[in-house]
Amino acid sequence: MNPAVGILAVQGDVEAHARALRAVGAAPRRVLRAAELADCAALVLPGGESTTIAMGMERLGLWAPLRHFARKGRPIFGTCAGAILLARQSRNAPVPTLGLLAADALRNAYGSQVDSFAAPVDAGAHCGLAGLRCTFIRAPRLCELGAGVQVLARVDGWPVLVRQQNVLAATFHPELGGDSRVHALLMRLLLR
Ligand code: GLN
Repeated sequence: MNPAVGILAVQGDVEAHARALRAVGAAPRRVLRAAELADCAALVLPGGESTTIAMGMERLGLWAPLRHFARKGRPIFGTCAGAILLARQSRNAPVPTLGLLAADALRNAYGSQVDSFAAPVDAGAHCGLAGLRCTFIRAPRLCELGAGVQVLARVDGWPVLVRQQNVLAATFHPELGGDSRVHALLMRLLLR
């Protein structure tokens, strides 16, 4: 049976993540309530606006259940705003975070919406990600990475895809562009 992978559906690119997850053999499902996490083998925190998503998580009482989910070792994958929410803190613009990834986030580090761009990963990307094209939309940068954080891909020298055990974070939007290699990595975390 295809593993159920939840997508936090407070805000953001839920449908595009669902498509990418189906392409790698997962059964995506929207998550809005803590009880819905029980059935999920892994979870995606999509991009959007981290402050809005954080408010939604507060309203839905999801902070503690999400931490619990990750601390049980289930894979959790944050993209863009989702990566900010995984970080230990946002350095430049306050937003509450889950503190599951030993890295600080710098929000909107590449500029505003009009500065959105796509770029290939630097040579030397790990895990079969060579040539991956990354779409950045008001993207954060990750800095002060802890010793347990592995950099899987960089763009212009900056880490854009990192992993710390069961936690995966992308500063870009891997659900855009039709390349599901990053979602495939999430599936590989399920098989650890
Ligand atoms: N700039 C947004 C934030 O700070 C993130 C943008 C995105 O997820 N595309 O939350």
